[in-house]
Amino acid sequence: MQEYEPEELSKSASSWERSIYDPFIGTFSSESASTVVSNYVSSHSTGCVSNARLLRKWLQHCDNHHSGCKPAPRERKFWPKRIIFIDGSISGKLTLVEKQFLYEDYLVLSHCWGNPTSVDKSRFCTTLENHDHHALCIIQGDGGDWESQANTMQDIFANTYCTIAATSADSWKDGFLKPQSDPLDGQTQNYSTPSPCKCDFDKDVDAGPLMKRAWVLQERVLSRRTIHFTGSHVYCECGDGVICEQLTKLEPPFGKQYFILDPRFPNRLYTSGYERTVQFIQFLFVKYSASGITEETDRAIAINSLIIRIEQVLETSSHYGIFQLFLSSLLLWKRRQDSNPPIEYKKQVPSWSWMAYSGGIDFILEPTDQFLVPHRDDLCFADDGRALNIKVRNFGEGYRVEENGENYDIMVGTEKVGSLWLDMGDQIQLQDCKCILVGTLNDEKEDDEEEDARRYYYILVIRGKYEGPNQHKDEGKHGNKDRGKKYERIGVGKVQVRLVSIDCTLGTLW
Ligand SMILES: [Zn+2]
Ligand SMILES: [Zn+2]
Repeated sequence: MQEYEPEELSKSASSWERSIYDPFIGTFSSESASTVVSNYVSSHSTGCVSNARLLRKWLQHCDNHHSGCKPAPRERKFWPKRIIFIDGSISGKLTLVEKQFLYEDYLVLSHCWGNPTSVDKSRFCTTLENHDHHALCIIQGDGGDWESQANTMQDIFANTYCTIAATSADSWKDGFLKPQSDPLDGQTQNYSTPSPCKCDFDKDVDAGPLMKRAWVLQERVLSRRTIHFTGSHVYCECGDGVICEQLTKLEPPFGKQYFILDPRFPNRLYTSGYERTVQFIQFLFVKYSASGITEETDRAIAINSLIIRIEQVLETSSHYGIFQLFLSSLLLWKRRQDSNPPIEYKKQVPSWSWMAYSGGIDFILEPTDQFLVPHRDDLCFADDGRALNIKVRNFGEGYRVEENGENYDIMVGTEKVGSLWLDMGDQIQLQDCKCILVGTLNDEKEDDEEEDARRYYYILVIRGKYEGPNQHKDEGKHGNKDRGKKYERIGVGKVQVRLVSIDCTLGTLW
């Protein structure tokens, strides 16, 4: 019954490991890390110059010593349609160029738009009228090429030599090359035996304004390496880990961040095993769902390039943010507090998909290889992935639902026998709802009948789908003739086995 065979994992840690990084020893012995740092400090008033030297050194080191971080230009089949050529002379003239330079490298700037006014847009957006002298790479508006060029954004980031991220900037009006805080933090430091600095990468980068934007997640994940300019620190991120401007090296825990840093995302998932793969995918969706997005309906597309790449590596398919291979684990999402109605897409996203709603989600079960799931006949994608084939069960009688903070408890007498999280937060009568079984934990108590009745099922709470007054009577009632009635999801839960009927009918979930 198990979905996927877990592999043995050798490495594990729960937080970033910190050490002093000296990328220059051995390769640049005449100029060690300490010299670079002391140059940086001594020329603090013109910090940009030495900072740029440090960044260049890091890039060279990464090019020469980390396999996979550097894109191989000669293998590259992709070049952006437009780039801005920067004249290296004093004038620093910028020219928008439409020409292929397949053997050269280009850099990408990742930044927040903020909320530009229509006047801002007419000044700064590239349009057919002004694209001779404006500097953005997609032509916007009528007759522009947004449709075709937006699709190549994933290739632009996956093939860039390096992404420069204006991580601390809220909008395009904010600069990001600000004077840095005192790199010594007021201490006198002995460079011959430096100690790791106490910078907080998660706070500076992950919680910064740029990384809180949903569209930026795929830009960051697809970039092989990124230089983050945060409010307090500059960080260089590549497949090997992160170093900060004071040469503290941060190595990611094996898991979540480790996969985000993958310079050939998502190839690291080839060897990650069941638990860590599900854990990463859940982490990715939790992070994405909590990110800001200007157009609500973009929720179903701003993560597509990552989903398609994961499908290829895991050799599975997906629909609306749920992978076939981890169908059960990924159906067990719950909304965080938010009780806004579903997003109004042109083509409605099914109720079982977390993409149907706005706002952050969490999953009610941590991935574990003890998780057992129904047979494919009982729960699988149908109708080109817009519906799920399900087996519908009833709740027993004599249970009541009580509000308990953000979720609901199911009680019999004084005993709690289950928990529910409802998508729209409304109070329900259990008797009016039905459910489907999504999985259970293998806790080896099956022989004992009484114990078995107290095992938990992971379920979706569903009800008959209302399709508006104009639907043809028979269609709504029977849906797909072979599969019985149509249902929609109203929540998710965890209930004891004894609450759920053994009898079931066939249905489809939309
Ligand atoms: Zn590297
Ligand atoms: Zn630091």
